Amino acid sequence: MITIKSHSELDLMRRAGKIVAGTFDALRRAVKPGVTTKELDAIAYDYIRSHNATPSFLNYGGFPASICASINDTVIHGIPDDTKLCDGDIISLDIGACYKGFHGDSAKTFAVGKISADAQRLIDVTRQSFYEGVQFATRKNRVGDVSAAIGNYVEENGFSVVRDYTGHGVGRNLHEDPSVLNFGRPGHGPRLMAGMTIAVEPMVNAGDYGVYVEDDDWTVRTDDGSLSAHYEHTILITDGACEILTQL
Ligand code: MG
Ligand code: MG
Repeated sequence: MITIKSHSELDLMRRAGKIVAGTFDALRRAVKPGVTTKELDAIAYDYIRSHNATPSFLNYGGFPASICASINDTVIHGIPDDTKLCDGDIISLDIGACYKGFHGDSAKTFAVGKISADAQRLIDVTRQSFYEGVQFATRKNRVGDVSAAIGNYVEENGFSVVRDYTGHGVGRNLHEDPSVLNFGRPGHGPRLMAGMTIAVEPMVNAGDYGVYVEDDDWTVRTDDGSLSAHYEHTILITDGACEILTQL
């Protein structure tokens, strides 16, 4: 069931979104060679808790941390640990915060030190594919209009979109209807309505789109070992351009 949020619910979603955005601000400065993903997780936990929110991912389905930290060929759901970031790595951080019962969800991929031109292009295309998609995220369009724009842009640039994981509605629950695929056909899927809040999140592989889940049942990696990047915001559908909730 797709939920339409009331004005008061949207105010809480905006607060949750700002907290997520603030967490990214705190983490951006901390991402550098030598820092561990566990240290990044602690920064996020402290930031979210000090803003009267709770980390959406902590204990979600048994996930053991507040953020997902996914390095290089890890696509999503990397578990923070004692791994130190190295110069030349890319790291995708995925963050959720719940404020008074409503969630914000956002992800970004960061360069660690100096990265290759190819890695930077992957990050840039992934980010831009989100903006290509959300141009179509307006009332009366369909979810497939957003999906198709993302997938086409990624493929035009020689990369592939992950098929096995998708964006989603978000609100009182971290994952709600509808699913928001990162590929598809224009004119298909549920119609977008003002007051819907969805997380649009292209996951883009430099190589093939195939992925597998590691033995920890969380960590998702590319089959071919190629780099992967992620870009996500929680957005609000309106009568005009969408409102991005997870930015400052
Ligand atoms: Mg996310
Ligand atoms: Mg999400």
